Amino acid sequence: MNSELTSLIEKAKAAPRALSVGELVQLLSVESADDRAALSAAGRELKLRQCGKGVAVRGLVEAGNVCAKDCLYCGIRKSNACVKRYRLSADEIVAGAAASKAMGYKSLVIQSGEIESEAHTRFIEEVLERIRPLDLGVTLSLGEQTEEVYARWRAAGATRYLLRIETSNPALYAKIHPSDCSWTRRVDCLRALRRTGYQVGTGVMCALPGQSVEDLARDIVFYGEMDVDMIGMGPFIPAENTPMGMANDGRGMTNEERLRLGLKMIAVTRLYLHDVNIAAATALQALQDDGRELGVLAGANVIMPNVTDVQYRRSYQLYANKPNLDENAAALRDRLDCRLSAIGEHILYDQLGDSRHFAART
Ligand code: SAM
Ligand code: SF4
Repeated sequence: MNSELTSLIEKAKAAPRALSVGELVQLLSVESADDRAALSAAGRELKLRQCGKGVAVRGLVEAGNVCAKDCLYCGIRKSNACVKRYRLSADEIVAGAAASKAMGYKSLVIQSGEIESEAHTRFIEEVLERIRPLDLGVTLSLGEQTEEVYARWRAAGATRYLLRIETSNPALYAKIHPSDCSWTRRVDCLRALRRTGYQVGTGVMCALPGQSVEDLARDIVFYGEMDVDMIGMGPFIPAENTPMGMANDGRGMTNEERLRLGLKMIAVTRLYLHDVNIAAATALQALQDDGRELGVLAGANVIMPNVTDVQYRRSYQLYANKPNLDENAAALRDRLDCRLSAIGEHILYDQLGDSRHFAART
């Protein structure tokens, strides 16, 4: 490892938010196997120092693929006529929550396409009220809503909200979304979530066409400026039947390059922010079978195993090669257990796994 990289890593480890954009670019630009290994090792060292051993888990319920939006990269975008649409009933979501609890997951994520309507708001409220007695940490990832809606869901029992900014560069955001999507509204939503008392999570996709390393460095600075508690980010993977699916035609990055970039983003984000929760996204596993474990070895401390009934998994394919399409939740948990012990880690059963950053700032 070159001495410049060593001193940058030492500087980052000494204090949060210590690096400039230029220094973050330097870290994100390392290419040799030795340098990448050193970066991951530093991310992991800081994860162990900040979060200890163990990986926090959240059972992921993919509550529906009906979406009012047409993000150019997303496999379940409104205009994708090849998708069989579904919405889980309240009973099915509550069953997913109960299954999570029975498996020892003390936290749940409810994610779906974006719907803004009073009927949907009320439906989620009712689901949350029914889940409340299970005493789980509940994360919502239901897209952009008004502050009033966020407040209603918070009052009904949700404690965390994940809304990726996708990219902190408004010009790049405009290139990967239709004109009715607004980067500014997304930032306003993150601020509203913060005011409403949630643990707030955001994140980006890396490996986007037209994205520079400086964009990625500024994404990490954006996380710091927004003072978020949780990061959920992962590589963009082209999806069939989408406008950005043609990046799959061989001109885009290889899966290996996407994975490498995803792992560097985790390590450098850990080095920059120190005490936030960072998820090892399923997209990493779509790129390589042990991708999520590599994410943990680079500094991630959260994994979200799927607990959705297998009959719906094929209808919630955001990108190509989605893993675990046929394995039920218990089998996935057992496999994750084995995989984590193989890298000297383990599932943190029956623990909420709240963000240490949130605890510190409140
Ligand atoms: N609809 C909500 C929203 O957009 O915030 C939540 C669900 S959405 C499917 C969750 C995330 O999936 C998005 O924030 C986006 O980053 C990610 N995603 C969608 N398409 C993707 C793709 N082709 N590759 C990687 N991630 C993708
Ligand atoms: Fe809908 Fe979210 Fe996909 Fe955009 S990323 S099309 S909002 S599900």
